[in-house]
Amino acid sequence: MTLRTPKAARQDPRRRLPAVGALCDDPIARPLKARYGAAALTRAVRAVLAEARTRLAIDPDVLPSTGVLLEAVETRLAEGVRETLFPVINATGVVIHTNLGRAPLAPEAMAAAAAAAGYANLELDLDTGRRSSRQAHLDPLIAEMTGAEAGMAVNNCAGAVLLALAAVAEGAPVIVSRGELVEIGGGFRIPDVVAQSGSRLVEVGTTNRTHLRDYEKALADHPEARVILRTHPSNFRISGFTSAPSLESLAHFAHAHGLLLIEDLGGGALVDLSPYGIPDEPTVQSSLRAGVDLVLFSGDKLLGGPQAGLAAGRRALVDQLEAHPLARALRLDKLSVAALAATLRLYRPPSDPFQRIPVLRLLAQHAETLTARAKDLRARVEGLADLEAEIIETEGYAGGGALPMRALPGRALALSCRRLSAEDLAFRLRTGSVRVLGRIEQDRVLIDLRTVDDAEVPALAEAISAAAAGEMSDLSRRYPEVPPSLV
Ligand SMILES: *Cc1c(COP(=O)(O)O)cnc(C)c1O
Repeated sequence: MTLRTPKAARQDPRRRLPAVGALCDDPIARPLKARYGAAALTRAVRAVLAEARTRLAIDPDVLPSTGVLLEAVETRLAEGVRETLFPVINATGVVIHTNLGRAPLAPEAMAAAAAAAGYANLELDLDTGRRSSRQAHLDPLIAEMTGAEAGMAVNNCAGAVLLALAAVAEGAPVIVSRGELVEIGGGFRIPDVVAQSGSRLVEVGTTNRTHLRDYEKALADHPEARVILRTHPSNFRISGFTSAPSLESLAHFAHAHGLLLIEDLGGGALVDLSPYGIPDEPTVQSSLRAGVDLVLFSGDKLLGGPQAGLAAGRRALVDQLEAHPLARALRLDKLSVAALAATLRLYRPPSDPFQRIPVLRLLAQHAETLTARAKDLRARVEGLADLEAEIIETEGYAGGGALPMRALPGRALALSCRRLSAEDLAFRLRTGSVRVLGRIEQDRVLIDLRTVDDAEVPALAEAISAAAAGEMSDLSRRYPEVPPSLV
């Protein structure tokens, strides 16, 4: 009887890779097992085989030998846990990009975080030598910058909403318009957050239209309700036949009936962005002026600081939040406290936040600035073999999921390389020694200059030249038998 290779295995070379057990038991692997232990060896073998399968899916003709695979296993074990988090050059044109860590911090905020990284008087009053709250570093700054009585911050805005509802509604019904029962992204859905806070959701109105009389009726049906929650729809727009009570009238209604109005504002702008192509983003101050009792917003969106969820509003409510057990679970670490305080100080006159806060500076750039930066970059990559680089008009965005996806006019350098597909070029740019994230449009890699700093242009030019020259990426170095054109 002849043993035949099953047809599927002949067609799919990934099935011709050795099994995990076979590689682990190979004599060459014996010293690796002795040095690193069987569990680590198995993990490394699995990881290397997974990478090999990925490579084979791209090029089925190059099957790595057992020797090559075990060499990769040894490298992986020797490296220990590989670094995975790197600084990148953001050439996507999306200023607040959640996948790229949202707001880039101001140098002052970076320095403050670094300075607090050792011992710091995080919860200690230096004058009295007594214990104090970490919120003492933030409360007066948030109050000053927003005009609120008091402020505090927790881990992120989702956490702030959860904490606020848990601490203020305390299980009583929370009234929300059906037009605001949104999902922000990353699984943050208003109905779920209300439920998680231990409160009961009372929906009012319809998807497109909600009136004050809808709130009135809800209150008549649920007289024990304590909170009206207003949510900024963020990345979602209802247009056409729509209506919702103004924030002022809603606040007036709430207070006339002994309710509190809490607003999940998300974006957290402290300055008016309408002169810069973002006309409909409300500021924290305008919400407070309209009568909102507690405004909740992110630290790393339009505020331009570290990840945080800020609460600004009435002193009694902020105190309630601070005293709630969830505040401990959601508390901000010292690096973020330091960076957030430093960021807030940059809003203080005479400092110009549009100069000092990177997010605002990137949003407020003039077309001429972007064009000049594009020309500078093009001059540095012009004449590279096989590379074509054209300056084009394009559209950047304030922010990914969480902000209005309003297009901002911008400039990009559109790259195409004769020997490489746009995907290949983008891959090389992502995985070179300087990591660059662009975007692919119509078979070209766009390097959007809105989100690139002038100081990054030389490194960016070098990264482009290395990528276009076919310098091998880390991944291809692991598999020297794979022709460089494939990675
Ligand atoms: C972004 C956003 C959130 C979540 O903020 P995180 O800081 O990411 O937790 C919540 N609500 C609104 C309206 C948002 O825009």
